[in-house]
Amino acid sequence: LDPADLTDDHHAWVRDPRRLRHLREVHRARPGDELTLGVSGGSIGRGRLVSLDEDGARFALDALDQAPPAALDIELVLALPRPRMLARSLEHVTALGVKRITLLHTRRVEKSYWQSPELSAEKIHQHLVLGLEQARDTVMPEVELETHFKPFVEDRLATRLKVRRGLLAHPGMQAACPRGLTSPATLVVGPEGGFIPYEVEALLAAGCQGIHLGSRILRVETAVIALLARLG
Ligand code: SAM
Repeated sequence: LDPADLTDDHHAWVRDPRRLRHLREVHRARPGDELTLGVSGGSIGRGRLVSLDEDGARFALDALDQAPPAALDIELVLALPRPRMLARSLEHVTALGVKRITLLHTRRVEKSYWQSPELSAEKIHQHLVLGLEQARDTVMPEVELETHFKPFVEDRLATRLKVRRGLLAHPGMQAACPRGLTSPATLVVGPEGGFIPYEVEALLAAGCQGIHLGSRILRVETAVIALLARLG
């Protein structure tokens, strides 16, 4: 929910047609049902569905509590994957609690991916919301698009890695990914075709530690989940 959906008399309205459909078809919600609602900005409302029709759903709220803060300060730098994989990856990593997602251009990212409708602010928002709803979280991760590899890695990433750990997932690296990873950390995952040698060198020079995830080559979305699953 947006804070503007809350009324002074402890009610909340949902009018977005996609959410109404979700309430009807996925939750099979009925008036009287007890529900938990995430309010963007960090609170959780507990309440009851009062009415649900074509125009909107109305909730009576019993309590509005602060949502728990994100447990880990984790940033993901992800070479822009193909649109369908992007949608799934955004949802998964949001559900797993990533705070910031940087979608990066690398040599083996298809240029056409940057024109995909999946990259519109509205679509990205939808995927993030699905991840938040899944995890019952309310804090939207930041998403930034970086179409220039070199200045991003040499300046912004290198500066961030002075105060946070950076891990570059790349097959064939000597070190295995540590278990029980602690935050703050920045995790870097490459495109379907992998990073080219120049990019690996630039990422290592920026302060990343190169790690492998075993001898199997994983799909981008699987590699991202495997990395995040090692967080402590
Ligand atoms: N042929 C590509 C290569 O050798 O880099 C495979 C790329 S893989 C499909 C996509 C990305 O997932 C990689 O760039 C890397 O970031 C990550 N990845 C997949 N399997 C991995 C592994 N076993 N170890 C480390 N990273 C892996």
